[in-house]
Amino acid sequence: MESYSFELITGPMSCGKTEELLRRVKRCIIAKKKVKVISPDVDTRAKGDYIESRNGLWLDAIKVKHAIQIMSVVKPEDEVIAIDELQFFDSNIVKVISKLMQEGKRIIGTGLELDFKAEPFGCMPQLMCIATEISKLHAVCMKCGCDHATRTQRLINGKPADKNSPLIMIGGDETYEARCIKCYELPDHEHEKQKHSLKLLSFKH
Ligand SMILES: [Zn+2]
Repeated sequence: MESYSFELITGPMSCGKTEELLRRVKRCIIAKKKVKVISPDVDTRAKGDYIESRNGLWLDAIKVKHAIQIMSVVKPEDEVIAIDELQFFDSNIVKVISKLMQEGKRIIGTGLELDFKAEPFGCMPQLMCIATEISKLHAVCMKCGCDHATRTQRLINGKPADKNSPLIMIGGDETYEARCIKCYELPDHEHEKQKHSLKLLSFKH
């Protein structure tokens, strides 16, 4: 059997995942390997059919909406399959990557491990289990400047987003920044309100 691998590069936003993916892909290109670069159709950061890291590196990428479509995009002669933003794919991505591994491909993927609520993002837990190698990158905390940011802080109009805020925001000034576990904030106003009304009730009795 041909050698296969699934290298998974993960971490919070701004930790250099895509930059690391592109670095590995460029080495494959120098080695004259047949490379295919794929990214999910939902990624709004990239403007066209390419992936771009925050430091301006970029590569042509094929945009795919459903994980299963990857099977028709990848040709038998392709040796290296690079997939960006794995957290956005549907659950079939786990089977698709397993199949590519069985076919002897080298797969290099990136994905956010946690969403803004610090909960596992999409199929990342399953993908981390089937990966043959995991690189966990840390970002610089944008609040205290330490080197160990592992979380993605969502800000709405500059303030930490509430736990109950919708996953997709329409309007409002929504931004994200990397933060360490000490600086990460997730207010839960619903829970606070409930606690407050319970206190009032017990006070009355
Ligand atoms: Zn911090």
